[in-house]
Amino acid sequence: MEKRFWIGTSWKMNKTLSEAKAYASVLRQSAVWGTVGLRGFVVPPFTALAAVARELEGSPILVGAQTMHWADHGPYTGEISPRMVVDCGARIVELGHSERRGSFGETDRDVNRKVKAALGHGLRPLVCVGETAEENRVGAGPETVSRQVKMAFHGVDARLFSRALIAYEPVWAIGEQGRPASADYANAMHGTIRAVLAGLSPEGASVPILYGGSVAEGNSAALALQPEVDGLFVGRAAWEAEGFLRIVESVVAVVAAEAPV
Ligand code: PEP
Repeated sequence: MEKRFWIGTSWKMNKTLSEAKAYASVLRQSAVWGTVGLRGFVVPPFTALAAVARELEGSPILVGAQTMHWADHGPYTGEISPRMVVDCGARIVELGHSERRGSFGETDRDVNRKVKAALGHGLRPLVCVGETAEENRVGAGPETVSRQVKMAFHGVDARLFSRALIAYEPVWAIGEQGRPASADYANAMHGTIRAVLAGLSPEGASVPILYGGSVAEGNSAALALQPEVDGLFVGRAAWEAEGFLRIVESVVAVVAAEAPV
């Protein structure tokens, strides 16, 4: 595969410990992860983070946490610190998902603190950005994602940009009620995000931008073929290991076929 391509799934608030371990074991048995340029990851709930990381140790599949606090320790009942996330074997941390922003009041400023904490602890922040349905209707999507990206990376050392990942996840595309963005629309929004990142730092242009929101077997290949799409972030369609593997294989087939020989 010529193009480096990221593909991952967050399980959100799903899976017991035994379900999580069984999923990870199916995943690691697949030969697809040996594809050159493919970067796979799974983001389990905290309760399964260490077990899944152990199960996938030595495999090319990375493990991530779904959120974290920015402080190393302290009186924050129920929170998880960057040190704890690293200690569990995670290498990625998802930050600013629209469910965290919408249901738990996470602000752009919180996301910025978390991005800095993640980078300070050697984690790759996977920063989620995306406009609401209303913002989309009035044509304000580019403004929303530009603000979210600028706020998330405010004051971040430019040399650390290469460790970051972005997930463009329009809120209207996520979950049961969501409808996926078209490949063209996703490509255009990724272009907008890339231009903002490039404006922040020369390294910014190379930050991988993943698309998320109702990705499924039927649309994964078309999305993967877009020049601005560097990866996919999958929810429901990847909650069974076999479903995730089918999506990964469909992407590998088209991205590899597109690569110059
Ligand atoms: C998500 O919530 O990040 C997501 C990608 O969900 P889904 O694929 O289920 O729309």
